[in-house]
Amino acid sequence: METSVLASSHAIAPSTPQSKAPSARLWMPERVVFTPSALKEAWGQQILSRVQALGLPVEELARDRLTGLRGETERETYDISKRTLAVVNAPPSQLKLSPIPPSADWQFHLAEGCPAHCQYCYLAGSLQGPPVIRAYANLPQILDNLARYKKPEQPTSFEVSCYTDPLGIEHLTGSLAECIRYFGTRENEYLRWVSKFDAVDGLLDLPHHGRTRCRASVNASPVSRQFEGGTASVVARLQALRKLALPKEQGGGGYPVGLVIAPIMPMEDWEQHYTQLLDDIQAALDFDCDLTFELISHRFTPVSKEVLQTWYPHSKLDMDEASRTTKRNKFGGIKYVYPTDVMKDLRQFFERSLAQRFPNAHILYWT
Ligand code: SF4
Repeated sequence: METSVLASSHAIAPSTPQSKAPSARLWMPERVVFTPSALKEAWGQQILSRVQALGLPVEELARDRLTGLRGETERETYDISKRTLAVVNAPPSQLKLSPIPPSADWQFHLAEGCPAHCQYCYLAGSLQGPPVIRAYANLPQILDNLARYKKPEQPTSFEVSCYTDPLGIEHLTGSLAECIRYFGTRENEYLRWVSKFDAVDGLLDLPHHGRTRCRASVNASPVSRQFEGGTASVVARLQALRKLALPKEQGGGGYPVGLVIAPIMPMEDWEQHYTQLLDDIQAALDFDCDLTFELISHRFTPVSKEVLQTWYPHSKLDMDEASRTTKRNKFGGIKYVYPTDVMKDLRQFFERSLAQRFPNAHILYWT
């Protein structure tokens, strides 16, 4: 049931750095399954102890295969999957990393799938099979493998949030903290992660040595309230980012931080709504910090649209091809983006507004 994973509230609290926004309730899966191979891993045992301590029912599967996730309809399969945590070993193919421009040099994965319910979800169409949340039990092997991808004598960056929201499942896995600790020991290697959740207290004291950039994914309130089920409110995400960015002496994490504003949509009165969002960001980060912005306009593909329409059949998300223009990716696939004049207006607004408000921050990319 969605209520088991929904945020306690999406109400917008007053926008001050001190305001207390309601946190997202931690996601508690109704079913936690372990494959036999995952249980043989020390990290799998660590996850087992966590989920048992939370009182969650645990099942060991007979084989290394996930079954029993299909419902009668795709929507039922979605509901079953989003209530299930599967602890499995990452397949060997995951040890062959892919580049992920413009976000980072390489992507790697500590899990696949996400407990939230964003109606524009980036995972739709990119992951195969039911959208069950799979957490990887062979994390030490995944981390050891990263050294092979280090560029000689140059900084190398690794993104860990392409296929999951790593903070959304952190209370169940501890895997994000482990990645941060690992990068804290690596010269010239940098971790990047992004989230729509806000439970960051367990990350504040980690020895990250400035090698992890924590980002919050945020949007204007008409988008976040309508389309981002199961996440923390934007105000709560900004409060979490504030904690991560505050210097250690002030009780914060002292991390480099960032905002991913995505997916940007030209809804009615969009300038006003995005101005409010930037006001909220400015209020939450009212101190000097190492800050970046990433700006991503809304896009979809024929496959992602089809998948999203089965997951969210009543969604009001605009995916009308007639009002878009097409772009081709490097493999020849089509994606639908806003027309050039709309993109230009949006981009100019953000570049101008961010330069005025955050003169020391870097805009990493607009897309
Ligand atoms: Fe998808 Fe990200 Fe939303 Fe999770 S938080 S449902 S991965 S868009």
